[in-house]
Formats: sequence, C-alpha cells, structure tokens
Amino acid sequence: MKKEIKTDYYDNFTCIAGKCSFNCCQEWKIAVDDDTYIKWNHLSLTKQNNDYIDQYVKQKDGTRVIALNEQKQCPFLNEQKLCNLVLNFGDEVLSETCAIFPRQIHEFADRKEYSLLPGCPEVVDLMNQQDKICFTKNLFDLDEDILLQIRTMMITIMQNQHFSISKSVMMIFYILLDIYQNKSVLKKEIDEYKDKAILKELSDTIDNMQFLSLDTFEENNELFLDIAENYRKQELYTSYLEPIAVIAENLSRDYDKRKVIVQLQKFDKQFSSYEKLFRNYLVVEIFSNSLMPESDLESLVVMIQWIAMEYAIMRHSIFLSWLLEEEKLSYTVVRNYIVVISRMMGYDQEDICEYLDKSFENLIWEWGYLALLIGAE
Ligand code: SF4
Repeated sequence: MKKEIKTDYYDNFTCIAGKCSFNCCQEWKIAVDDDTYIKWNHLSLTKQNNDYIDQYVKQKDGTRVIALNEQKQCPFLNEQKLCNLVLNFGDEVLSETCAIFPRQIHEFADRKEYSLLPGCPEVVDLMNQQDKICFTKNLFDLDEDILLQIRTMMITIMQNQHFSISKSVMMIFYILLDIYQNKSVLKKEIDEYKDKAILKELSDTIDNMQFLSLDTFEENNELFLDIAENYRKQELYTSYLEPIAVIAENLSRDYDKRKVIVQLQKFDKQFSSYEKLFRNYLVVEIFSNSLMPESDLESLVVMIQWIAMEYAIMRHSIFLSWLLEEEKLSYTVVRNYIVVISRMMGYDQEDICEYLDKSFENLIWEWGYLALLIGAE
C-alpha cells in the first residue's frame, strides 16, 4: 500500500456551502471531466422540457467547463447558495473538480500526498489557526529521492523563524539555482545546505545587499496589472480587482516617491502581523505545488518562481487594498486576497511555463530578479 502524507489539519476541513463568504461556484473555470459530461448527457433537470444538464457546458480555452450565468455564477447554484445538482441527484453527480475542491491530491509511484488549496476561505482560516504546518508523516523519513530531499530542505528553511519570509524565499532560490546549474546533485550536497553555518553565511550575504523598495513596488505593480488584465476584461472578481487595479494604474503613471516609501514602511509593519499565516501559506505551496508526479529539477525551479511571484502579487494586492481602506489591514481583506490571487494564479504547470516563457527573456530567472520581486523586509 502507498504511503499517505497529509498536512495535519487536512481532515478538519468541512465545506460550509451556503454560509461561505466567497463561494467557489463563481467567477472561474469549473472543469467538467469526460465521465461527468457523459453522465450529464442523460440527466434532465426537469422532466417536462428536456432541460439536459449538458446544455450548461461549454468549451473555454480548450477545456470543457460549466457555462456561468450573467452574474458569473454556476447556473446550478440556488438562492441559498446550495448546489441544485447535489440537492436533486446527490453528491455522485458532481464533476471531479467540484467533488474534490479544495482538496489537492498528488499520486506518486510510492506515495499519495494530500493538501488543501488556499482558494477557499475556510482553508485560509485553517492555515491561520496552525502555529506551524505539520505533516502526518515526518518528511525527513521519506526515501532518498533527490527532489524530495530538496523539497524538505526548502520547507525547513521556510519554517526557520531566524530568517524573514523574504529572506527565506531568496535563500531557497539561491540554493535551487546552485543545484540546478550543477545539474547533478548528491544527497550529501543537499545536506550541506542544511548546515547552520552555511545558511548563516548566505543570510549575512543577503543582509549586506541593498534593496530598493520602490523598484520592488514598481515591478509588483506591473506584474499585478498584467495578471489582472484578462480577468478584468472578462469582468471576473470585479469587486476585488477593479478598485485596486484603478489605483495600480494611477501609480503606474506617476507617483510621489517619498510618500510611497513612507506608506510601504507603514504597510510592512501591519503586514508583518500576518507573518505566521504567510509562512504557513508558503510552506503548503512548496509542499503541494513545487513537486508533482512528473516533476524534474527544472520544473521544480519554475514552480518556486511561480510561488514567489504569487506571494509578491498577493502582498501587493493587499497593499493596494490597504491604501484604499485608508491604511487599515483587517484579516478579512488579507484572507480575501489570498483567495482571489490563488484562484487567479492557480494555473497548471504547462500554462505557468507558457506565461513565464512569454513574459520573461528566460524561463529560469536570475537570482537578482527574484530578489527584486520579493524585496527585503
Ligand atoms: S469556497 Fe470552500 S467553503 Fe466555500 S463553498 Fe467552496 S469549498 Fe465550500
């Protein structure tokens, strides 16, 4: 039997359905797999007028998805925010996506890994309640697979509170690039990166570097607008995106540098009160998204870049919202932007490579670019 590894709060998740503040049955592509589509071909919502369920399915970007209604919601969602399909036919009729979300399961040759996606507000609440992310099995006890060893090393650095979140991300990427450039790597070389003295040296080197907060701000602003563009055109997540995108556009034209530096400093102070939540978020992202069944070293590096970019855009969105809210930072705002940006950037690996290929000179970044994106705290 395969080993099973879960984040240890995995089994505590329960969907609150009608009581959910940010229902997942709206504003995104809800995939309909082949088996579900065949099943739906024979199911009629009403006996009288041949209202077959498959009429609510369409093709989008090469995928079969549920056609949302004018309010951008799933047509099966009723006024009580409950699913009419479940009410009429039971859970068995749900598509794979609907049945599984927000659970994420990766099946490897020797093990199955389970985690929960932060595109659900209940999951963010669960993450927020953990002092530290733990797993149902000790990751150090897993086999000798090099990629697994690298992932465990990255999680260990991310959980090390001696390093700030930004510094942890920069250190992880530095080590990854070093391993990637050497192409072949031995377990003992990865172990060296767990050495306290080596990590301290790397940390001190980063401390001695100069980071310009306005450069980071401008880069994040541009990336945020780029990621938001398509969603704005399709009028998705409008109430969350539009107000902050307008601010981002204004800032991209011109801004008072001194004023923004002061605002960034004030924001950083308030944002740091969510450090535990974001550390947990990044640990779960590294666990669930850096290593997949088909991964190789290059795809692992690519996914770390994407995770870093998602974090940077999330933080920038929260900063823009903080400006809008007259510099107040509530948990609800933080949670909402974790959910929105996770949903917006929850691409599959192929789409991530396509986006990065299109947007950057090289698929694999230089260390300096990631450092610019993340910036120092
Ligand atoms: S977002 Fe989460 S809690 Fe809300 S309806 Fe979807 S699965 Fe349930």
